Amino acid sequence: MSGRVLIVDDVATNRIVMRFKLASAFYDTLQAASGAEALAELALHSASVVVVAHALADMSGADLCQKLRANPHTRHLPVLMVVPPGKPALRLAALQAGADAVLERPLNQALLLARLRGLLRASNGRAELRLQRDCQLAAGMAEPAPPRPTPAHIGVICNQKALAENWIEGLAPHIGQHRWRHYHVPDLIRTEPQGGFPDLVIILLDGRASDPALHLVAGLKAQPATRHIVQMALLPGPNPALAAEALDHGAEDVATATTGKAEISLRIARLLAQKARADDLRNSVHSGLRAAVLDPLTGLYNRHFALPQLARMGHEAAQAQKSLAVMVADIDHFKAVNDRYGHAVGDSVLVEVAERLRRFTTSADLLARIGGEEFLIATTVPDLAEARVAAQMVCRAIGARPFLQPNGGPAPALPVTISVGLATRPANDASLSAQQLLALADQALMVSKTRGRNQVVLSQPAA
Ligand code: GH3
Ligand code: MG
Ligand code: MG
Repeated sequence: MSGRVLIVDDVATNRIVMRFKLASAFYDTLQAASGAEALAELALHSASVVVVAHALADMSGADLCQKLRANPHTRHLPVLMVVPPGKPALRLAALQAGADAVLERPLNQALLLARLRGLLRASNGRAELRLQRDCQLAAGMAEPAPPRPTPAHIGVICNQKALAENWIEGLAPHIGQHRWRHYHVPDLIRTEPQGGFPDLVIILLDGRASDPALHLVAGLKAQPATRHIVQMALLPGPNPALAAEALDHGAEDVATATTGKAEISLRIARLLAQKARADDLRNSVHSGLRAAVLDPLTGLYNRHFALPQLARMGHEAAQAQKSLAVMVADIDHFKAVNDRYGHAVGDSVLVEVAERLRRFTTSADLLARIGGEEFLIATTVPDLAEARVAAQMVCRAIGARPFLQPNGGPAPALPVTISVGLATRPANDASLSAQQLLALADQALMVSKTRGRNQVVLSQPAA
């Protein structure tokens, strides 16, 4: 099933024709002959999208749309309004009432289906982000999203600069204060432009199916750096087949040069508002994810994230027949630092230790703060002698140079040392798990503490 569409139309034949068109694309359908019936239907059944006629017996399509937007259960439901041809004022009213898209009768089958696919794709993407954000909020993980700069960066893409500038001049006065810029077709695919990627692009298509700008639509959607750029494809005149293709390539909206600047501007403003909300949700989800895996003080992975990662590393090293080294490093007499100079100085020592350890690890290693002043380093090494050398270097990197406090501080040059426990596993013997290596490294660390600290002790498993 592609999704469930609620068809709202007071003309029975219109509903039947629509149902037939949708059935060909495997949509399940619900039907309502009035606005009141539509609301009753949605109270009982869920729908993925609503297709509504602009005029109903008991209310206008725009009124129904406003009622849907006002209800928390249907607020996010995408609405496609069907209007008679050649009535720009009706189209504008539908969009102002909150319709996501407007199509004119007679309906073109390919364009209708492409519109529905586009609306469902966007709505599912937003629903997933909301779900992730809500799960994180429930788990107390998400942080409020940082405020975003309000003026958007809008790119107009066309190989003819004069034409692009003409559109910019025509549209800019209708939409708030934004930064407009012309781009040639290949510009955004090759490199990030100075000042960053645009938030929204208007891609001027020339009407030919072979137009390279059409491929740009799909190209931008395929790249991680550009896939969140909102795209409006602008056709020189009505061309339902090409409009459907642009939507299926990933454009969020399609308009024609004859659509009218007021409507295009309104659609752009709505797309920008939707993107701003989606960006906020995405930022909130990302900061929640970061908070879940990172230690806020040092920025290193936390224990919760590191232990399963260590297990995974252990399996991968065994499969690749690589030897594995696990080190646990603990700051010596750290309590005394806190007691003598205060917690803030203690924190700055933790940050500096983390920074120095970071310089000894690569992205393939695992570095984490697994306790108050305890750090884990796991690394795969070509041979075990190298692991011992690496552990010695880590130990010296902390102890060899005193820690300088910014602005002098209460302890201008503080001597700090760590003790390191090291446990290793040869490439040809994976009988010990990574977790067991961690336990052995912990025991070796204890030995290092009893032997006077500031040294590496290699675990000696019973032979
Ligand atoms: P040892 O050499 O035997 O490891 O002695 P130690 O003093 O380092 O060890 P102990 O376990 O006695 O003390 C650890 C201290 O680390 C106690 C705790 O207050 C401090 N600590 C833990 N987390 C933090 C933190 O986030 N910031 C600061 N400033 N101190 C912390
Ligand atoms: Mg300690
Ligand atoms: Mg400790």
